[in-house]
Amino acid sequence: MNIELAANFSYILSAGLFIFGLKMLGSPATARRGNLLSSLGMLIAVVAGLTASGIVSYEYIIGGVILGSIIGALAARLVAMTSMPEMVALFNGSGGVASLLVGWATLYLAGNDTATAVLSTVGPATGISTFKAFTAVLAILIGGVTFTGSLIAYGKLSETIGSAAVVFTGQRLVNSLILAGLIGSGVMFCQQPAVDSQWLYIVLGLSLVLGVMVVIPIGGADMPVVISLLNSYSGIAACAAGFAINNNILIVAGSLVGAAGIILTNIMCKAMNRSLANVLFSGFGAVKQGKAIEGEVNPISVEDAYYILEAANNVCFVPGYGMAVAQAQHVVKELGEILEENGCEVSYAIHPVAGRMPGHMNVLLAEADVPYEQLVEMDDINPRIENVDVAIVIGANDVVNPSAREDEDSPIWGMPIINVDQARTVFILKRSMASGFSGVDNPLFFGENSRMLFGDAKVSISGVIAEFS
Ligand code: NDP
Repeated sequence: MNIELAANFSYILSAGLFIFGLKMLGSPATARRGNLLSSLGMLIAVVAGLTASGIVSYEYIIGGVILGSIIGALAARLVAMTSMPEMVALFNGSGGVASLLVGWATLYLAGNDTATAVLSTVGPATGISTFKAFTAVLAILIGGVTFTGSLIAYGKLSETIGSAAVVFTGQRLVNSLILAGLIGSGVMFCQQPAVDSQWLYIVLGLSLVLGVMVVIPIGGADMPVVISLLNSYSGIAACAAGFAINNNILIVAGSLVGAAGIILTNIMCKAMNRSLANVLFSGFGAVKQGKAIEGEVNPISVEDAYYILEAANNVCFVPGYGMAVAQAQHVVKELGEILEENGCEVSYAIHPVAGRMPGHMNVLLAEADVPYEQLVEMDDINPRIENVDVAIVIGANDVVNPSAREDEDSPIWGMPIINVDQARTVFILKRSMASGFSGVDNPLFFGENSRMLFGDAKVSISGVIAEFS
């Protein structure tokens, strides 16, 4: 069996491992093994890829692997759990820029579709096939949009550039013109492809600008959709790059990421009761203000919280981003166990966009070994929330904001929420009266059955645990 055939067999094996791995990610019970299986698939794909003819330089590859591994290992160790969402945005951006560079580099292979030439000795390409030009332009275009779009998403998530939507008059027209310019330049390039073509540079420049332009008008609570959409784009860009360099496993892996990202985007849109077009073009939170909220706040002490919990028969924890900030998941689980020992029924209600990345709360609770059976989805808890004696909101805000249900003028109007205000009593654990990621005020804090337990969530819960013991 020749090496090329062996590599292709390995690619089929890798693709199978990716697909089974993805399937296993569908349940927390099998997710860890699914991740391992997919990693094994990736290892096999990388090793098989290294046997391909036309490898430019093993020295550069080894150098890149060492450098990348050092950066990855350091990032994994040093980046705080709360910064993971930003890191995911950067990963998406890295995938985008990698595809952009691969697409661009293929054009240097001097019209040699079997790609045996060595980059440095070839120089500007001549005689590039239209197919190669088309796929390379797609990889550059989508990769460029993904790259700068992800950098803006990173800035918004880390709040270095503010999460509010940036909108201006004529924005849609400007974006449409950029898109039209991109498509036109791409077509011009494909008609006469050459690596030093000015059209190529225009495609490159416009795609980087478009990435910025499509993400700046999205802010507030709509960021989950952007994150999953950019994830999908990075997959599609990789798929285009796979076609450009004629690499089967890159095509398969890119398609899987692209499709999975689109499915996730759809789930996120449903979770917010918005259409994708509405998210992308409406400029969330830029126009609507919502009603002014007034009322009296009822603070509660740790001791009083203990007395109420001690008597409760049914408690539901509703975690949000603040639980990640406080790293309160372990003490939350400990309190859950104490309540159960006290004869109380305990559940954890998870909103699909709670936290700052898809599945954020599930990851944190799994890390604390909260039994999977105790996790309840929003649609399952809402119909029986009236039977909950105490809903304990731990650093959640937007996902429990009743304005989404009651105030048509609210920017988050229509977004499904966990109706904790309909539980018998609600404890809200947070440090201040500040709003959540969307910047929208929350009438829940003024509810008659609401009690604010101010302070860091981990400290507050540890205090309640101390009262129990
Ligand atoms: P929010 O951002 O609405 O609220 C988090 C709350 O946590 C804040 O009000 C804050 O109040 C509180 N908090 C912060 N630190 C602590 C702490 N140490 N102890 C106690 N409380 C703390 O979070 P939600 O999870 O409710 O909603 C998620 C939001 O993020 C939604 O708008 C969603 O659309 C958006 N988003 C979600 C993504 C996803 O994929 N899940 C991605 C990007 C954005 P205080 O400062 O007073 O303590």
